[in-house]
Amino acid sequence: MNIKELDKNYVANTYARFPIELVSGKGSKLYDSDGKEYIDMGTGIGVSAFGVGDEEWVKAVTEQLTTLQHTSNLYYTAPCARLAELLCTKTGAKKVFFSNSGAEANECAIKAARKYAAEKKGADFYKIITLNNSFHGRTITTLAATGQESFHKDFLPLTEGFLYADAGDLETVEKYIKEEKVAAIMFETVQGEGGVVPLSKDFVSGLAKLAEENDVLLVVDEVQTGNGRTGALYGYMKYGINPDIVSTAKGIGGGLPLGATMLFEKTENVYTPGSHGSTFGGNPVSCAGAISIIERLDEAFLSEVEKKSQYIIETLSGCEGVKSISGLGLMLGIETEKDVNEVLSYCQQNGVLPIKAKNKLRLLPPLNISFEDLEKAINIIKKACEV
Ligand SMILES: *Cc1c(COP(=O)(O)O)cnc(C)c1O
Repeated sequence: MNIKELDKNYVANTYARFPIELVSGKGSKLYDSDGKEYIDMGTGIGVSAFGVGDEEWVKAVTEQLTTLQHTSNLYYTAPCARLAELLCTKTGAKKVFFSNSGAEANECAIKAARKYAAEKKGADFYKIITLNNSFHGRTITTLAATGQESFHKDFLPLTEGFLYADAGDLETVEKYIKEEKVAAIMFETVQGEGGVVPLSKDFVSGLAKLAEENDVLLVVDEVQTGNGRTGALYGYMKYGINPDIVSTAKGIGGGLPLGATMLFEKTENVYTPGSHGSTFGGNPVSCAGAISIIERLDEAFLSEVEKKSQYIIETLSGCEGVKSISGLGLMLGIETEKDVNEVLSYCQQNGVLPIKAKNKLRLLPPLNISFEDLEKAINIIKKACEV
């Protein structure tokens, strides 16, 4: 059997994979099993932040891998402690809990919010407000947090205690806070899986104000928007708010599994020994790689991300077949006149690999993609959109 047949036979049938078997890559280039070259405009869903085989990242990971690959959290290790310090210094967070994925980073955020409210306001203050069209993960609790019924179907009953409001609907959020026993509000600054939809500044400031006034925690899910993706270190920084908890994953590890939940002033002492944990969380190899990623996301680098974003928006706006462009930084969604699957398949045939978000083409290129590769990819995407 070839690889595609093997996969179809033996791997759980949860993915509608594209008909491409990827075997290698370098920087912004990927190669399939026929040796065909592609420009990577998806980075494995915003994960390989510096592309494939980035030299600094490979060096950091390899050095740690050949020194000590795992310890469990029964012991101290330098990469875990150093990464936590780096994240706290760059964000103002006070403590970081490490896990291995976005769903786990959100589980930790939800548990922290519940524990904070239980201790401060009482055990019945466990409700969490999330937004319709959000995506927070695939565990039973993060599915409950996800405000899209299509994901819930067939998995009921989910964890109880989630209340949903539409993005932009501050009145409903306020009503929930007044009438229910609410621990936290949780949202993505740009709804990624929901179709690359940024929240408005007014709405986010409104949420922050309501949270502050009512001692409700502000939890920002930066799993996709984090780590330079939006042109800011974390998406919330573009909104000028001060969250109480920030979860992240995807790009932070540069390609290795890593989740992080940052706890700010109000929540820094919520967790105590034994109240939460993870066997793999804070793995030294993943953390060593993450340090090499986060260290490089300085102002100069992020302003390059913004320039690339502007280039894409300016080049594609008003083009034939392009209805609208949404998103921030290098997390962009293109609404096309043609069916998105048709656009995507043209791109794939012509050596460019974007992904989808709902009915939009989603672009998540390496943050350090060269202008040359970006230009090539955008030209092909432009042609793909033409009707
Ligand atoms: C991808 C994603 C998750 C889930 O992350 P996993 O690593 O797949 O568990 C959660 N929240 C957001 C906003 C995401 O984009």
